[in-house]
Amino acid sequence: MPERILMGPGPSNPYPEVTAALVHPVLGHLDPAFLSILDETIERLRAVFVTANPLTMPLSGTGSAGMEAAFVNFVRPGDPVVVGVNGVFGERMCEVAERQGAAVVRVDAPWGQPLDPEAVLAAHRAPVLIAVVHAETSTGVRNDVAPIGRGKGDALLVADMVTSLGGIDVAVDDWLVDIAYSGTQKCLGVPPGLAPLTVSERARARLVERCPSWYLDLRLLSRYVESSGDGRVYHHTAPVTMIGALHAGLGALLDEGLPAAVARHAECGRLLQDGLEDLGLELFAQAGHRLPQLTTVRVPAVLPPGMDEAACRRVLLERFGIEIGGGVGPLSGKVWRIGCMGGSARVRNVIALLGALGEVLGR
Ligand code: PLP
Repeated sequence: MPERILMGPGPSNPYPEVTAALVHPVLGHLDPAFLSILDETIERLRAVFVTANPLTMPLSGTGSAGMEAAFVNFVRPGDPVVVGVNGVFGERMCEVAERQGAAVVRVDAPWGQPLDPEAVLAAHRAPVLIAVVHAETSTGVRNDVAPIGRGKGDALLVADMVTSLGGIDVAVDDWLVDIAYSGTQKCLGVPPGLAPLTVSERARARLVERCPSWYLDLRLLSRYVESSGDGRVYHHTAPVTMIGALHAGLGALLDEGLPAAVARHAECGRLLQDGLEDLGLELFAQAGHRLPQLTTVRVPAVLPPGMDEAACRRVLLERFGIEIGGGVGPLSGKVWRIGCMGGSARVRNVIALLGALGEVLGR
């Protein structure tokens, strides 16, 4: 396979420690050596989510499995559920909640702008659950979660942290988030395949009696992750290699230190966004709410003769080995999405991309 600098919306390049873990000999899923890696991985997840939640685990499945678990375990048919929507992943939350039979109340904001926390809180008198995406990967916008936590009342608060975890500040307990999930392939610098998940004790007391999904049933899964030694109750064969990779990625992140990792992502994002403006390009997301790890930039009105936006991305990939992403949904063909996440968030990658993009665009 060709080597790439992965600067799309994900996956990012893994941290070197992760690549080493991926070639580690496979262990049995009940081997005590693996189980101690699993326990340590859970401990590390608590550290990066900044939570003391006992119910914290790497779910088998990608970030969407985390999203599905967040609804399928807490929503009963007819329950009012408020969802903030300003991009693809808020839309996906609505669909997942609707499939659970929730009475979904959408609170929309224009794509490229953040959600208004007051509008989210005012949308329903007594929702069972409020759900928002912290970092909208489709638009490059950061939504503020803390004000929603402060005003949530009796509702449970779900936060999608797929693109935020490990890249910008996250504070599950301080922000009063009840259910948070993430993915491995963004700022954690691990390949796709797991969904880190954490659940407050308050939410745990409200688990549905019988989760309609067997695979994502948190009552069953908790018996596996929370027991130890011979008491561990088999649920499904854990993806041992991926958990080893996540263990290594979280180790690298915590060794660097969360504040240092956040600062590295911030520096790369700033350099990239300034550099794009220096090339005469226009940033898409609202200033003040731009994610450093995922930058959206408008495709210029005038492109080199004979080239459309997809051709520009193709040249970046084929000639320079750099992947960036196109727009999705209503932004298809209108923006590029450039990631600086995990192992890809390096100044040298930003400089390489800016140089290559300048070449491609003839600027
Ligand atoms: N939520 C957000 C904010 C995402 O960016 C993504 C994926 O890009 C998902 C959820 C879904 O994650 P996955 O594609 O790993 O299932």
